[in-house]
Amino acid sequence: MRILITGGAGFIGSHLAEALLERGDEVDLIDDLSTGSMANIDRLKGRRGFGYVIDTVMNAPLMAELVDRCDVVYHLAAAVGVRLIVESPVRTISTNIRGTEICLEMASKKRKRVVLASTSEVYGKSDRIPFREDDDLVFGATVKSRWSYACSKAIDEFLALACHRERGLPVVICRFFNIVGPRQTGRYGMVFPRLIGQALRGEDLTVYGTGGQTRSFLYISDLIAALLLLDGCPGAEGKVINIGSDDEIAIGALARRIVEITESRSRITHVPYERAYEEGFEDMGRRAADITRLRSLTGFSISVGLDEMIRRTAASMREDR
Ligand code: UDP
Repeated sequence: MRILITGGAGFIGSHLAEALLERGDEVDLIDDLSTGSMANIDRLKGRRGFGYVIDTVMNAPLMAELVDRCDVVYHLAAAVGVRLIVESPVRTISTNIRGTEICLEMASKKRKRVVLASTSEVYGKSDRIPFREDDDLVFGATVKSRWSYACSKAIDEFLALACHRERGLPVVICRFFNIVGPRQTGRYGMVFPRLIGQALRGEDLTVYGTGGQTRSFLYISDLIAALLLLDGCPGAEGKVINIGSDDEIAIGALARRIVEITESRSRITHVPYERAYEEGFEDMGRRAADITRLRSLTGFSISVGLDEMIRRTAASMREDR
């Protein structure tokens, strides 16, 4: 099979490209390097069946050509990272909506299977834990720019489902929950690489707010395993599927665990949200995935636990340094 990965030089895209090449597929990727990097795909260059284009998914003629050549599209290109989203909401909205519209339009014309990367952000402030795919989505006011990300991804989902119903597009919508691992950068806000990096450098670990807010982390190899299981799974088409974990941890507790496992001498400091992001910033109190649907479609199970995620991510960050 020939696979197109948009956003393929990013953290998730580059791991996916590697796994697909390993499986014997041919992989083309497109990335504008806004948050991805050439370093992520260096090891893939020169491998048989691998090609890449540095350009934007908003280049419609190019996307038409790339989609035409492939059998399956993984649409991962998006503005990511809460910090980036708060700082650049215009870019977030237009990349996430226009980029996806172009991708879905090209794929609909040619009836190419699309796997759309969505996010647990779409659940917003919902307090029904764990989050189920058919739960209501609860967003804050439009003056709070964080919600532009959730809303733009929700629009992507609406459009994908509409293309499925009206045009027969074979599409699978995956909501990724706090995926972590090597090559994820802390530059755009992600807590895992930020806190581990701080611990390794001996800096204070910055816990935002009280640190009582929870997240459920999933290691990159488990995400890739889930995507490969979903590939070719006919029951997945036209569905929204959570890919994550239901094992919640409070961010304050995560920071303590990171200090312990990395044997760091760093201290933990609390930073108010308005200093970390912007005045009036709203965070989610809790987030955990209900993965019943994924399990029953594919038999998926999680293989990497939190301590191991910390150890592996820290080891790869040490190597990079
Ligand atoms: N966070 C933190 N310190 C940091 C970066 C993030 O305490 O240096 C918090 C953030 O406020 C949120 C959680 O960690 O409550 C997860 O943040 P991230 O940006 O990784 O993901 P998301 O909020 O999208 O789940």
